[in-house]
Amino acid sequence: MGEVVAVVPAAGLGLRLGSDVPKAFVQLAGKTLLRRSVDVLLGVDGLALVVIVVAPGLVSEVAEQYADEATLVVAGGAERSESVRAGLAAAVQAVPGARYVLVHDAARALAPVELACDVVNALRAGAVAVVPALPVADTIKVVDAAGLVTATPERATLRAVQTPQGFHVDVLRTAHAQQLIATDDAALVERGGSPVHTVPGHPLAFKITTPLDLRLAQALLAEQ
Ligand code: C5P
Repeated sequence: MGEVVAVVPAAGLGLRLGSDVPKAFVQLAGKTLLRRSVDVLLGVDGLALVVIVVAPGLVSEVAEQYADEATLVVAGGAERSESVRAGLAAAVQAVPGARYVLVHDAARALAPVELACDVVNALRAGAVAVVPALPVADTIKVVDAAGLVTATPERATLRAVQTPQGFHVDVLRTAHAQQLIATDDAALVERGGSPVHTVPGHPLAFKITTPLDLRLAQALLAEQ
């Protein structure tokens, strides 16, 4: 049995994409974003199970589609963190001996398998939490509720963080035990005081969020 499990949060509505189906089920060159993201994870050496987290009303339909694969489909929550918690609980129950867990947004459908392998290799080398990170091109401002700029963090210290993010299973379970909400899983681990390491991110692991992102992804696939 493999030592790695994965959770794919795919329960978001993806309203910013303006599609009439939830974002994970949008087609990209003949395959859904979800299909592509699950395939990234199934390509990882030692992968035992991918838990796909979808909106409650889609569980049986998606479970049927992935029935012949090393997957499990469960219902997510209103927030991404809740969806990850549901997926993590199911993964731990199904594969009690798993050491490492990858969490990968369905929306990062073009992430290369090599990126997921880099994250797992960093875990095997001793890190307890690993995120792919890229330098940012823009200057980032902190603004208040009125839109006034309150700070400008030094750009050289900033990184845009992607998925798959990888964790020791126990570290991620502890991080999620307080039922907190954050925009990524590493933020919860940081709050608990565990060190979060970075590996170089990949431009293709960008999150498909807007119609422009979808056009970029289509153009990149058309080139291949
Ligand atoms: O909303 P955001 O862009 O941060 O979503 C990132 C990923 O989390 C997407 O793949 C989305 O489907 C998933 N998500 C989820 N459950 C939610 C909200 C988002 O699984 N309630």
